[in-house]
Amino acid sequence: MGYEFFTLMMILCFFISIFASTSLKSTYKKYMKIQNSSHFSGAQVAASILRQFGINDVRVEETSGELSDHYDPRHKVVRLSTENYHGTSIAAVSVAAHECGHAIQHATEYVPVVLRSKMVPVVNFANKVSYGLFALSLFIDNYETVLKIAFLVFFVTFLFQVVTLPVEFDASKRALKILNSSNVLQEHEMKGSKKVLKAAAFTYVAGVLYSLMQVLRILSVLNRRDS
Ligand SMILES: [Zn+2]
Repeated sequence: MGYEFFTLMMILCFFISIFASTSLKSTYKKYMKIQNSSHFSGAQVAASILRQFGINDVRVEETSGELSDHYDPRHKVVRLSTENYHGTSIAAVSVAAHECGHAIQHATEYVPVVLRSKMVPVVNFANKVSYGLFALSLFIDNYETVLKIAFLVFFVTFLFQVVTLPVEFDASKRALKILNSSNVLQEHEMKGSKKVLKAAAFTYVAGVLYSLMQVLRILSVLNRRDS
């Protein structure tokens, strides 16, 4: 399998990524319009989950932007987008519970999270190098050296994305378990919650596939030059 094959696969994965993010947006929009029967907002559910797990040093804050929800381990804040912070939809509580899943992972030192945190400085450095790759190719005559650097940069990014998968899957698994056991969502509402979180997970899988093809593509060029 050569360069052309992986270029084609990369384009295919690019379209899979676009499909994944479009389907996440549409699934999210659908369940944002359906109110949960317990009438809890995302912020209320997040605060309650953190309390339930004895996590007292993490705050819940509102942030701007659509689907900008995240857990910030450095400042110990669960940030929820306005519509999920105030909203009482199935999507709002699902996203809030997922972000709290990340807070629980950090509090319990879940192994993939620890590994992922250790990789952050390396990934940041690789990102900086990737921005400079073009400039680097102007100064280094040896095309192969530039290719090898590019390979390392993309490989580091790929590894980081691979480690991110169990982190994301686990956060959603925890979220669904909590939402179900605490009766925030009723059985018939769990289906919607699962759909939202699965759609989000799919975007991470698509990202990994794209990265993998990028790595294999560079590797195929390097191999061709060796032989
Ligand atoms: Zn997540």
